[in-house]
Amino acid sequence: MDRYPSKKRALSPEVQETCIPHSNEPPIPSPTSTTYEEESTDFKLAILASLHPNHNEESLLEALLLSDGSVEQASATLKQHEAAPSKKRPTLSNIGYQSSLSSYISGTTPENTRPAKKLSLTKKTKTIYLYTPEDVEAHTPCSIIHNLLPPEQADALLRELLKEAATYERTTFQLFDKVVKSPHTFCFYVNGQDEVERQKAEFYYDGKKPEHVRCSTPEMLKACAQVEEAVNKEAQRRIQDFYPEQNKLKYQSPDSWKPNTAFVNCYAGPQENLGYHSDQLTYLGPRAIVGSLSLGVSREFRVRKIVAEDDEHCKDDGSLADAQGQISIHLPHNSLLVMHAEMQEEWKHSVAPARTIDMHPISKNTRINITYREYKEYLHPKLMPKCKCGVPAVLRCVQRKRENRGRYMWMCQTNYVPGKGGCSFFQWVEFDDNGLPPWVKATTDQKSRH
Ligand SMILES: [Zn+2]
Repeated sequence: MDRYPSKKRALSPEVQETCIPHSNEPPIPSPTSTTYEEESTDFKLAILASLHPNHNEESLLEALLLSDGSVEQASATLKQHEAAPSKKRPTLSNIGYQSSLSSYISGTTPENTRPAKKLSLTKKTKTIYLYTPEDVEAHTPCSIIHNLLPPEQADALLRELLKEAATYERTTFQLFDKVVKSPHTFCFYVNGQDEVERQKAEFYYDGKKPEHVRCSTPEMLKACAQVEEAVNKEAQRRIQDFYPEQNKLKYQSPDSWKPNTAFVNCYAGPQENLGYHSDQLTYLGPRAIVGSLSLGVSREFRVRKIVAEDDEHCKDDGSLADAQGQISIHLPHNSLLVMHAEMQEEWKHSVAPARTIDMHPISKNTRINITYREYKEYLHPKLMPKCKCGVPAVLRCVQRKRENRGRYMWMCQTNYVPGKGGCSFFQWVEFDDNGLPPWVKATTDQKSRH
């Protein structure tokens, strides 16, 4: 009787059938399918955002929910909405949600657009805007440092990367039957030509070896040292001021953070964006820290906490409650956002499309963002289990399913390669308290025995 009892319901059948190929393999344990569902929602939002750049995320999410998770139907609805002159658009006069898309769904009857459902959906995507470092660190798993670099250095870095970004590409991934392009461009950087070759020969991203890897530029390397210092200071302060008993988190590395890779994203214009996601942990390990330096146009960075399927958060109608509201962090030129160790497992983040932007004197309508990361030597692909496709598995964390929340697992990563279906490979993984995988412990034990 409930049309939208939960996110799971709204997105289930198509997702499970398309993403998890039918095979003779034993059925995948339930946490895996949950992960697929979560991820698929973000992929779906990403494709809708790239097809309909003029709609904000709330509209896209709403269209998706009202279409029971079908991207095609959601997209058709949004198109219909765009095409209809505003006067002729049907409205549900006595409800008062004028921005609602529910009334534009073809074949929608008044029965399944009940106001009660609309209300919970609207509340769920409420946005809180944060500007000061004090607010950011108190309400999100991030801290922000404004004006990190001397102004001339930040400008030089921005100029260097604008030249680089002229030849960045969009990434493509498989979403059901479609090949989707990312709604922004990006490139991956490592420190030195040897590292570039090593990346291309040995590493995998979304099931394939990377084609585009570049050497960090001189200004990137220069800034890297300053980012490293600032991030380590912030990470220590986070432990002191925020973590229980001033201890690092379980699975967090006790070593200082040493960035050795960077993803650089380029957002050329207000519509370019990045959908909600958590960063890939495969080469970073559990409880990873990421340092994100913003340059050029200010944009909104949005974060939302992942709400578990947990009774105390559930409303009477079965929907997940208000904890799903999103927080928007303003990211000006030359600011460093530190995503702390609790971020990737428990929160998702995005760069929202903007209605308007303030032009930047150097980059005009463009934002450049460098995310510095530390790849761990003990998480090299050659050490990881391989799936049935013969590709090193990808590391994921159960984020939503209550009984296994916070557990890590290896999974097949070839599902997103256009033309490939992937396999059903799945294996739990136990890290030690410092985030070391089982094979590191085995090596140490062996050594100590000799
Ligand atoms: Zn596979």
